[in-house]
Amino acid sequence: MTSQLVLYTNGQIVGRDRLLLDHDVLVRDGRIESIRPNTRKRPQEAKIVSLGGGYLTPGLIDIHVHGGGGADFMDGTIDAVRTACQTHLVHGTTTLFPTTTTASAEQLENMIAACAQVQEADRSSSRIEPGSNVGSRSGPRPTDQPSIAGSRMAAGARIGGVHLYGPYFAKDKVGCHLANQQRPPDKQEYRRYFSTNMVRVATCAAELPGATEFYRYASQRGCLVTCGHSNSTYAEMQAAFRVGMRHVDHFWCAMSSVTSLRARCGTPMQAGMEQFVLMEPEMSTEVIADGCHLSDDLLRFAYRFKGPERLCLVTDASRALDQPPGEYRFGSDSDGPTFYSDGRVGWTLDRRSLASSVVGMDHMVRTMQRATKAPLPDLIRMASLTPAERVGIAADYGSIEVGKVADFVLWSPRLIVKRVYLAESQ
Ligand SMILES: [Zn+2]
Repeated sequence: MTSQLVLYTNGQIVGRDRLLLDHDVLVRDGRIESIRPNTRKRPQEAKIVSLGGGYLTPGLIDIHVHGGGGADFMDGTIDAVRTACQTHLVHGTTTLFPTTTTASAEQLENMIAACAQVQEADRSSSRIEPGSNVGSRSGPRPTDQPSIAGSRMAAGARIGGVHLYGPYFAKDKVGCHLANQQRPPDKQEYRRYFSTNMVRVATCAAELPGATEFYRYASQRGCLVTCGHSNSTYAEMQAAFRVGMRHVDHFWCAMSSVTSLRARCGTPMQAGMEQFVLMEPEMSTEVIADGCHLSDDLLRFAYRFKGPERLCLVTDASRALDQPPGEYRFGSDSDGPTFYSDGRVGWTLDRRSLASSVVGMDHMVRTMQRATKAPLPDLIRMASLTPAERVGIAADYGSIEVGKVADFVLWSPRLIVKRVYLAESQ
């Protein structure tokens, strides 16, 4: 197999901590070979991709995402998984972690199996050499051209692994999830999920019986271990931290506060998840920066106090992403609770609380920019390198650095996604 060279030129490269002007990125067989001054001689055999002066960033990585394009990962079918992955790719997400809801063991197993099959099919199609009969596979694949999007079987965001999120939520913090499927962790049950080797992010409420064992088990298996949908106290967070818990799902949503702990523990008033995340430098968290869940003040606060190395942007998007306003099911299409999307955000039917986001990662980056005025490398880091580091895939993904997979997003100066490039082979 002859190697394929692609030279990305005439763009502004968003590096780890600075913008690189007047530089080209040379990619060989889907991996970044060099980042070089554009005055250097171009290799003759390289295909040239002109970026038209736009920003070139790493592909975005979403560690908390339920669906999109009408499909929820919990539908548990290959079609649903592909549809959601394709929908997110257009928004700049090149790697995502399909996220479970509270559901039956059978539904959870079906979801994990469907994700595994799509992941496997994408990996083996990446190994097919150019010239074989799956269509043209040479060079980068711009996803805004539908004629090319079909050339790879999926043309969707890569599946990095599954986020086992529901069902181990606290009863009083179930949020918009199906309440009758909430339960404490059961060793026999979750061992089956982990035995698929698909689970990379693992959530459990710290106050549930069996949480300590769950956390220990998940962290021994190399997962990002997270506490979410929880009303846990500071002491419970400390205990969880000792056995590997390092992250809290969607900061300020479905988590304990001084007020909610007063209802649980009385006085003196207690510190909880918020204080623990802010006190402990090793803890990371994530925000749903859709402009509807959290005010710009809170986004600015999270950025200031956790910093770009400990704060992830996530979509928490439901199937209503890129769908018209209307009623949809959250989680499985067979029995998931119905919510309403107004086109900007999801609501419970009584309109009293929010029920997931309906926008993509590109929107989160723009909201965060408006709220924080953070430099572009920081904004992009929160949507790529930081989540990659937290889940342990940063050796291959999450930044434009030599040796990494060449998944890129090309943005306009106003941060509109112009193109997405998924590396063909690794
Ligand atoms: Zn969620």
